Amino acid sequence: MLKTVGILGGGQLARMLALAGKPLGLDFVFLDPAEDACAASLGQHIHADWDNENALIELGNLSGVVTFDFENVPQKSASLIESLCPVYPPPSALYVSQDRLREKSLMLELNIPVTPFLPVSSRQELMLAVEQIGLPVVLKTRRLGYDGKGQAVLRFPEDMERAWQALGDHELICEGFVNFEAECSIIAARGKDGATVYWPLTRNLHREGILAISMAPAFDQDLQSRARSLIARLMDHLDYVGVMALELFIKDGELLANEFAPRVHNSGHWTIDAAHTSQFENHLRAICGMPLGDTGNTSLAIMFNLLGEMPQCAIQQSGMQASPENVHWHDYHKAPRLNRKIGHVTICAQSESGLKARSAQLAAELGVAAELNLAAILK
Ligand code: AMP
Repeated sequence: MLKTVGILGGGQLARMLALAGKPLGLDFVFLDPAEDACAASLGQHIHADWDNENALIELGNLSGVVTFDFENVPQKSASLIESLCPVYPPPSALYVSQDRLREKSLMLELNIPVTPFLPVSSRQELMLAVEQIGLPVVLKTRRLGYDGKGQAVLRFPEDMERAWQALGDHELICEGFVNFEAECSIIAARGKDGATVYWPLTRNLHREGILAISMAPAFDQDLQSRARSLIARLMDHLDYVGVMALELFIKDGELLANEFAPRVHNSGHWTIDAAHTSQFENHLRAICGMPLGDTGNTSLAIMFNLLGEMPQCAIQQSGMQASPENVHWHDYHKAPRLNRKIGHVTICAQSESGLKARSAQLAAELGVAAELNLAAILK
């Protein structure tokens, strides 16, 4: 029986993987250059850079299987470990997801609808892309962008020079701006035998490019099954093993794919408290060759990301904690820093009215009620 799981990365996703894996009898070893990696207290921490060969060999030798908690693991590092032990999800999925152009091109090839896009590597190409796609557009770095970083929205022709000055040092992709009705994500787990399970389609709200709120279940069966068929195409094509999240826009009732994450995902954190099996447990089950668990909801759920520092608000001690409509606090044990994801709260409720009341109370106590249009997503 496979006992030790190696994880490239020791952040909050690795931490939640380890918390889910301990009851399955698994041990963990993390490779992370950060001295204060927040998963470290849950296993062995190899404190080294992502391309440190000796450290990668140590990780591979200690582990029965290796996975990762972020997608920018260098290709060479993943390949070196693969020569020592299995790496899941397959590094080919990393290769695709590390470059937005490759990612969107694969989606087109698989008939997954996406907004129009063109590669840009010069001012001239930017002008041509804007002409062809039409304003507004979003200019993004092809690599290493996350949480809205490395992006600019261009609404007027004069925005082109400003965006080029900010991003022109990188290889870029220019995308049509999607005036979406809503954002959502479909998260699925695929086993080594190809068996695939899906959590309910989750509704997401971003603030300044960073996920603020996720709610599930939030959509009808029709949209849910369309989203499933899109992610299934990607997973089958990549012969994927593990959890994947596909982020989607809803525009005129149709789904348009934005990007996929070859790992557990922030919009799936609610599954810890409100699904029979969490995304973290099923990721481990998949990569360790165990049968996948039931992904159905045990309640309605809404998750609020906590950014910057853990709030000292009254609810942590108040009646919200003790009430039957549960409030689950998750503190990642990370040092406070502006806009850093340091925790989340999931509210579980059996009724929509309970969920609404609790969410409004939490948003008010966290001081985010004004910025978040909760009414729009809870209608
Ligand atoms: P990304 O880094 O691609 O996940 O983008 C972060 C957020 O920026 C998304 O969740 C959207 O809210 C917004 N965004 C990204 N691409 C587009 C687009 N083509 N049109 C409109 N909004 C976008």
